[in-house]
Amino acid sequence: MVEIKTAAEREAMREAGRVVAAALAAVRAHAAAGVSLLELNETAAAVISAAGARSAFLHYRPAFAPTPFPAVICTSVNEVIVHGIPDGYRLRSGDLLSVDCGAYLDGWAGDAAISLVVGRARPQDLELIATAEAALGAAVAACVPGDRLGDVGHAVALAGRRAGYGVLADFGGHGIGRAMHEDPHVPNHGRPGRGMVLRPGLVLAIEPMFVAGGAGAYLTAPDGWALSSADGSRAAHVEHTVAVTEDGPRVLTLP
Ligand code: MG
Ligand code: MG
Repeated sequence: MVEIKTAAEREAMREAGRVVAAALAAVRAHAAAGVSLLELNETAAAVISAAGARSAFLHYRPAFAPTPFPAVICTSVNEVIVHGIPDGYRLRSGDLLSVDCGAYLDGWAGDAAISLVVGRARPQDLELIATAEAALGAAVAACVPGDRLGDVGHAVALAGRRAGYGVLADFGGHGIGRAMHEDPHVPNHGRPGRGMVLRPGLVLAIEPMFVAGGAGAYLTAPDGWALSSADGSRAAHVEHTVAVTEDGPRVLTLP
């Protein structure tokens, strides 16, 4: 069931979104060669805790997962697309890192993700990230009353395909509110002018994930969580929580 949020509820979600943005900013600032993924997890956990919020990821177990998620962020390095579990791996210069974070504050969820390169970047990695960010921007711009869900997915897929990247058809964004994952599913593809009509008060997490190799085929890690590109090519993932309002889209997970 799709739930419509009042203006006051959207304000409460903005505060949850601020916590997520702050956690991601702290991780971005701390990510450097030699820093471990577990240290980044601790960085995010400290921000969430200091804000009086609670992680939406820790112990989360969706239907596909064999075990509860053991951390407050997903850290997906290089060919890992999403859902990487932080471990003792120490970042190296040139690594492409995607970080996903979710938190609850006062009963409301925020969910966002960033991608970055540690140290010296390869131009093609910066291009991959910039394209994912542009896709997210285009999809956010489609979040206006009267547009449709298909317009949002189409904006994501178009940006990825134009650049020759693989777009994961099986994964996408979601409604968000009192629960991190609510209806509707927000596919990273769609037909313009088709699907659910967007109404003020609808809040969506939109999350383009692109793979540099064009096929977009993926493998699931033995841990049941991490998804990697089947061809070993690098991947980028970015996400914002966005409210549809009478005045247009409002991103709730900005700093
Ligand atoms: Mg997320
Ligand atoms: Mg999400």
